[in-house]
Amino acid sequence: MDTETDEHRLAVVGAGVMGVGITTLALLRGLPVLLVDVDEPVLERARDQIAGELRMAQLMGRLAADTATGPLTTATTLAGAADATLVIEATTEDLGVKAKVLAEVSALTRPGTPLVSNTSSIPIDELAGVAQRPGEVVGTHFMNPPYLIRTVEVIRGVRTAEATMESLAATLAALGQEPIVVKDAPGFVTSRVLHPMINDAARIVQEGTAGVEAVDTLMENCLGHRTGPLRTADLIGIDNLVDSLQVLFERTGDEGCRPCDLLLEKVRQGHHGRKSGRGFYTYTH
Ligand code: NAD
Repeated sequence: MDTETDEHRLAVVGAGVMGVGITTLALLRGLPVLLVDVDEPVLERARDQIAGELRMAQLMGRLAADTATGPLTTATTLAGAADATLVIEATTEDLGVKAKVLAEVSALTRPGTPLVSNTSSIPIDELAGVAQRPGEVVGTHFMNPPYLIRTVEVIRGVRTAEATMESLAATLAALGQEPIVVKDAPGFVTSRVLHPMINDAARIVQEGTAGVEAVDTLMENCLGHRTGPLRTADLIGIDNLVDSLQVLFERTGDEGCRPCDLLLEKVRQGHHGRKSGRGFYTYTH
C-alpha cells in the first residue's frame, strides 16, 4: 500500500448512477473503494460498468499509463465501512432510506470519519439528525460523470464540524476535485436552479409548444446549455429527478418544482433515461 492508499479509504454506499461514477473517479486516482449496495445483481452490473468506465477514461487520457487504479471491493452489507476514512452515501433520493443508512454507518465508523451524503436536494441538517455525531455529516453534490466534472458542490450543514470540512477537503484534493462550499437549503444551488428548469423544459414538450430535440437544440445553441435540459434529464435518471423535484416541492412550496405529468408518466412507464435505455431519447448502450 502506498501513502495515498493508507491515507484515504473510501466506502461508497449505493451502486447506481452516482455510486458507479464516484467509485470510478476514486479508483482512477488510485484510492481503494468499498462499494456497497443492498442488491447483488446491482453490484454485478456496477462492477462491469466501472470496468467499462475505467477503459473509457484511459482512452480519453484521464488515466496516465503509469498510474495504477485503486482496488475495488463490493459488499451487500455495511460492515466493511468500519475501516473507511470517509463514507459517501449515494443511495436513492429518499429521506427514509438515507437516514437508515447514515444511522447505521454512524454507529460503525470511528469518531472523526466524515459521513458524506450525495443527496441532490435533501437538506443536510435533516440527515445530520440521525447520526450519532451530527458534526460528521456533510453534503457533496458530485455531478455525473464525476471524473469528467471536476467541480463539486459541497454543502456545509449548520452542525457540520470544521474538522469534517478539513477532512473532506483533503479527500476531495486526493480525488482531484475542486470544492465550492455553499450553505444548507433544499436543493442547495445546482438542483434548486437546474431541476425546476428541466421540469419546465418537460412541461413545454407536454404542452406541445416544441418537441424534445427542438427544446434541447435551442437551449444548447442559443443559451449555451452543454447537453440540453432533456438530455440532461436522461443522464441524471428521470426517476431520480422526480424524487428530487418532490423533495424540493415539499420543502419550498414552489409550484415550479411540482413534477410535471410528462416526467411522472415516463417514470410510470419505466423510461428512466440512459440507465434504462429510454427516456426522452433512446439509447442502444
Ligand atoms: P440510482 O437510483 O441510480 O441508485 C441508487 C442505488 O442505491 C441503487 O442501486 C439502490 O439499490 C441503492 N440502495 C437503495 N437503498 C440502499 C441501501 N439501504 N443500502 C445500499 N444501497 C441502497 O440513484 P443515483 O442517480 O445514483 O443517485 C444517488 C444519489 O445521488 C441520490 O441522492 C441522487 O439524488 C444523487 N445525485 C444524483 C445525480 C445524478 O445525476 N443521477 C447527480 C447528483 C446527485
